Amino acid sequence: MRQIAYTCLACILFIPSAAQPAAAEGLRAGAAKVVITPDVHAATVYLAGYGQNRVATGVHDDLYARCLALEAGADTVEVCAADLIGLFYDDVLKIREMVKNQAPQVNHLIVASTHDHEGPDTMGLWGPSPLQSGIDEKYMALLRERIAQAAVDAARSMQPAHLTLGRDDHPLLAMLQSDSRPPFVKDPYLFVMHLVSDSSGQTIADLINWSDHPETLGGKNTEITADYPHWLCQYVESHSGGTAIFVNGSIGGLLSSNGPSVALQDPETGAVAADNTWRKAELFGDTIGQLAERAVKGGEAVKVDSLDFRGAVIFVPLHNDRFRVAGANGVFGGRKPLYTDGRIDPSVAEKDIPGMGEMKLSTGHDVQTEVSYIRLLAAGRLTAEIVTVPGEVYPELVNGGITRYPGADYPDAPFEPAIREHLASRYQFIFGLANDELGYIIPKAEYDDQPPWLLNRKERWYGEINSAGPDVAGVVTNALVGLIDRR
Ligand SMILES: [Zn+2]
Repeated sequence: MRQIAYTCLACILFIPSAAQPAAAEGLRAGAAKVVITPDVHAATVYLAGYGQNRVATGVHDDLYARCLALEAGADTVEVCAADLIGLFYDDVLKIREMVKNQAPQVNHLIVASTHDHEGPDTMGLWGPSPLQSGIDEKYMALLRERIAQAAVDAARSMQPAHLTLGRDDHPLLAMLQSDSRPPFVKDPYLFVMHLVSDSSGQTIADLINWSDHPETLGGKNTEITADYPHWLCQYVESHSGGTAIFVNGSIGGLLSSNGPSVALQDPETGAVAADNTWRKAELFGDTIGQLAERAVKGGEAVKVDSLDFRGAVIFVPLHNDRFRVAGANGVFGGRKPLYTDGRIDPSVAEKDIPGMGEMKLSTGHDVQTEVSYIRLLAAGRLTAEIVTVPGEVYPELVNGGITRYPGADYPDAPFEPAIREHLASRYQFIFGLANDELGYIIPKAEYDDQPPWLLNRKERWYGEINSAGPDVAGVVTNALVGLIDRR
């Protein structure tokens, strides 16, 4: 299996750019948002994240899908971010079909999830029991319709606009990210796109890209909320006008808004806001909102006149038997079919799974997913880049710093390329959980699914249980570098 990660560039299918008639010069932008909160009274809503069978009892604040459409030259690239734990590629492809019918000018649609841990189960893993799906298909159909609607609304509202790019990379930003696993590499970079209408001078949108698990409310809360992104977007919208779109980044490892090391002082009481409280989520969202505002104030106006989109469909080897069992037992609701040699492989087998007994599991080799790389150009000059990653990437795969520890399952595994080493602009947006959610994307040299555990710890580290396997990182990062380095 090992060689696959580094030869799989050969199995990439490049996604062609659909030919579009040349549009007006300069940049056009549009934004829209739509509520995607499930009705907790109409059906049982299983909350995603933490343990199974956490049933929603109410709604604290609405969940949204928020979209930004950008057109320059012949291309329209649109990104939608939804307050969800994750959305599989299967649903993203259906949303794209719907958008294509209503807004054919959108030739590249990215659908990302904020990784909200206080919203409905859209992946199936948090139902009443491990073999019972938490997905409500009626809600999923409505969800796809709503996200598509927001995407269409954003595209139809596009107007001539100017862009300011903002960035904050103060090391103190890392103090807002708790990290539970060595190496303690974080991704403290915050990037903002601020779009203003040429004609009215009003803000159209602010897109904020930052890395942290939205899990401030913890696993005991049963009220639906978007977590800190709710307050972040509320802060930015009330200060800047327009629509705020939050896109999460490199959150593997795992970077979290929760944990005592993320100490936010409540200005009203002078005390540090406690974990699992609404107040901490509010202070957290407001803080990131203020940082985004500051980044725009110190930002750089750029005259983007073309977009260069590069995408690839890739096949990632699946090793995690838990996901194979889930797939074979309908937990994903027919999503995430497995592939062998690039073709759907529906075969199943019985196997004794430790802790689960004799189980039915899918036996295909790979999952299909997608990566992309987008360049924003001004008179041929590279001004900003967007990288989309189909899961929760460990920050060391983005920033460098993969480390060998005793206990690793693949002690001699070569290091994957660090994504930012291949990026060349000052504004390097990393869109995590984009177009898919493959779980943790872990450097192979740090992968540890078998004892002894890394650094001779007594129990296993958290991570591998929610990862597709040790070869995901190699396939994803090499595919991305292949797109980035293409000239
Ligand atoms: Zn996560």
